[in-house]
Amino acid sequence: METTCKGCGLRFVSVNSRTGRPFKHCDVCKTSLRVRRADRKAAGKCRDCARGAGGKTRCPVCIRRIKASLRRRGRCESCGGANTAPGVICARCALKGIARRSLGDKTRWTEIQQLIETQGFRCAVTGELIAVSETASLDHIVPKNRGGGHESGNLRWVHIVVNRMKNDMTDAELLRWAELLVASRSKLDAQAVTTPPARAWPGGMVARLSS
Ligand SMILES: [Zn+2]
Ligand SMILES: [Zn+2]
Ligand SMILES: [Zn+2]
Repeated sequence: METTCKGCGLRFVSVNSRTGRPFKHCDVCKTSLRVRRADRKAAGKCRDCARGAGGKTRCPVCIRRIKASLRRRGRCESCGGANTAPGVICARCALKGIARRSLGDKTRWTEIQQLIETQGFRCAVTGELIAVSETASLDHIVPKNRGGGHESGNLRWVHIVVNRMKNDMTDAELLRWAELLVASRSKLDAQAVTTPPARAWPGGMVARLSS
């Protein structure tokens, strides 16, 4: 397939064997682009526009432009691949992010993917349906600050609301608080609204303050 080079405008034939699509630049322009990018990289500048990039490959302006273009085309903002997930990044990138943040190891994304599949995309605590990038949250069964580790036996997917409530509690503690909530709710419902409030301050404190 013949293509017009984006750099010099000449017609050329060169297909990327990896993607099966034609290259945007002819071989001559590709070489000069590579040299220019290497120079910009060495100087710590943005590879696209040569503005200061603060040690990154691209400047914030170019990153914003590329992300917006990916979003418009329905592609993942992070990897550029096809994105059928609800958010701006694909399920794979979302899982990698969760594995990196929760387990300190993004390569474990396949493991937590299998885990949510095994759970049938349901919260391990409530049985509610959950979805990655929406309502699913990776939980350490024994919380990290209570001695729980990152091993697979200590992991499960729960609804994000459950994980917020659980925070650094154990299952037993969470259940205890849930029971207290339900009990208190029914008691309040049964109680007449006219019941006088209990004394707000310990005895003597108000007198001491006013004397
Ligand atoms: Zn060219
Ligand atoms: Zn730039
Ligand atoms: Zn992605």
